[in-house]
Amino acid sequence: MRWSQSFIPTVREAPADAEVASHIFLLRAGYIRQVAAGLYEYLPLAWRSLLKIQAIVRREMDTIAQEFHMPALHPAELWQASGRWELMGGNLFRLKDRFQRDLCLGMTHEEAMAALAAKELRSYKQLPQIWYQIQTKFRDEPRPRSGLLRVREFIMKDAYSFDLNEAGLDVSYQKHDRVYRRIFDACGLRYVAVEAHSGAMGGSQSQEFMVLGEAGEDLVALCAACGYAANLEKAQAHPAPVADPEAAGGAPEEFATPHQRTIAEVSALTGEAPGRLAKSLVYMVEEESGPEAVLVVVRGDDEASEAKLGTALGGREFRPARPEEIVDATGAPPGSVGPVKARRPLRILADHALRGRHHLIVGANREGFHLRGVTPGEHFTPEWADLREVRSGNACTKCGAPLTVSKAIEIGHIFKLGRKYSHALGVSVQDEAGSAAEPIMGSYGIGIERILVAAIEQNCDKSGFWLPRSIAPYSVIVTPTNLGDAAIAAASERVVAALTAQGEDVLFDDRDERAGVKFKDADLIGIPRRITVGKKAAQGIVEVVDRATGAMREVEMSAIERADW
Ligand SMILES: [Zn+2]
Repeated sequence: MRWSQSFIPTVREAPADAEVASHIFLLRAGYIRQVAAGLYEYLPLAWRSLLKIQAIVRREMDTIAQEFHMPALHPAELWQASGRWELMGGNLFRLKDRFQRDLCLGMTHEEAMAALAAKELRSYKQLPQIWYQIQTKFRDEPRPRSGLLRVREFIMKDAYSFDLNEAGLDVSYQKHDRVYRRIFDACGLRYVAVEAHSGAMGGSQSQEFMVLGEAGEDLVALCAACGYAANLEKAQAHPAPVADPEAAGGAPEEFATPHQRTIAEVSALTGEAPGRLAKSLVYMVEEESGPEAVLVVVRGDDEASEAKLGTALGGREFRPARPEEIVDATGAPPGSVGPVKARRPLRILADHALRGRHHLIVGANREGFHLRGVTPGEHFTPEWADLREVRSGNACTKCGAPLTVSKAIEIGHIFKLGRKYSHALGVSVQDEAGSAAEPIMGSYGIGIERILVAAIEQNCDKSGFWLPRSIAPYSVIVTPTNLGDAAIAAASERVVAALTAQGEDVLFDDRDERAGVKFKDADLIGIPRRITVGKKAAQGIVEVVDRATGAMREVEMSAIERADW
């Protein structure tokens, strides 16, 4: 491809609202343009890269699955059957057809695939099935941002497995684990597989593939010593040790804290470390009988994880209580709430880190007062649960080394779904004994654009970025310094012809521009190697520049023609 005939609208400056590297460079390098918030046009360089990514995904997925193409437009009935028509709220793009029937734009295809399976699958002999597609998805994102990281329309590879039983699902899940690693390896990414939060909808095991980077919106805990890795929504660790006093038992003692509402303020007043305090939070949980207040207790120096709380609550809907609800349930406003002697008998969930602790300081459920000398199990009876959010420096539960918490971009997710959608959509087959059985499902996603975004975040500097060769729009750029020079022009054409014959995707920068301008553009647009054809072309020598390292070496043109460079 000749640059002079291609559409590569590079620009010097990105708009001020572009903050993460991938967003800035996708705009500056002429890969994308914005249509509206969270909606982008993919220009030729981006599309070439995204097609290469899709080709890798397709090649690897075809080794374990069959490709489909489902409609993006779904009848409301599909989503109503699973209950997600309500559950997805504002995230689902909804519309009506000319007959006023409700439709939505699919953000995922569990329902659609299960509905097809319900119509077609009859016997265990047809199982397992693994069905996938590479398709446009829609999500009415409240705050689109970070370029292609958080958008309203995007391309997903989504796959669904149907197995007769858990053992079969295990096999399908492991197949995806292996294939996903092959895909991300082939795309040249450095990534980690982390234990993920399964949610509470019957999912039993779940793993995310993450690329570490500041642009990421997920947090992962990592152990450099033993390799433990988990999404912060799921991660476990030992909290920093804290010593309780060796005091005798006895009743908790109330003391005045007229101006102390936060952990830091009570800690300062009492001279006790924040870890000696317990933090009490009130949530309203949707029970069959209506919203019920639940008290959540964690160590004073910990934060409660809402993802973990959701698991502990068995998937019930919940939200933080409003101040008047807190007073109604406990008798005290926020800041004086605690697990002992609430106004009404409350369900109490306490984090494991408080187990075995004694003589703690907690809110007294009386405005302006706290209690000291409170021992869980003695003065209040909680249900124990994993509720705390792991922090950097906490000790790994596997090996004891300190964990680090890092930002990360999710590029893929594999998930044991269970029978929720089979059940809701009526998927049923005859098992070996001739009885009806609901197949068990898995769900597996890869964000196609996220692979491109993550690759840019991993491989960039001030001047631009360089993509792994397998997913770069062009594998090499040929840059003549001066096409007015007949020797340089002739040598350039020879080099381009030789590289093309070798199967390289060549971008030939034949523009009538100064060499400096061409070098700048070449550094910007993501091509991993540059061949500069300059004055030494007359002696049969050109320069090969590696974009990642900047390393430059002189190579004989005859070597390039022999594919030995
Ligand atoms: Zn470890």
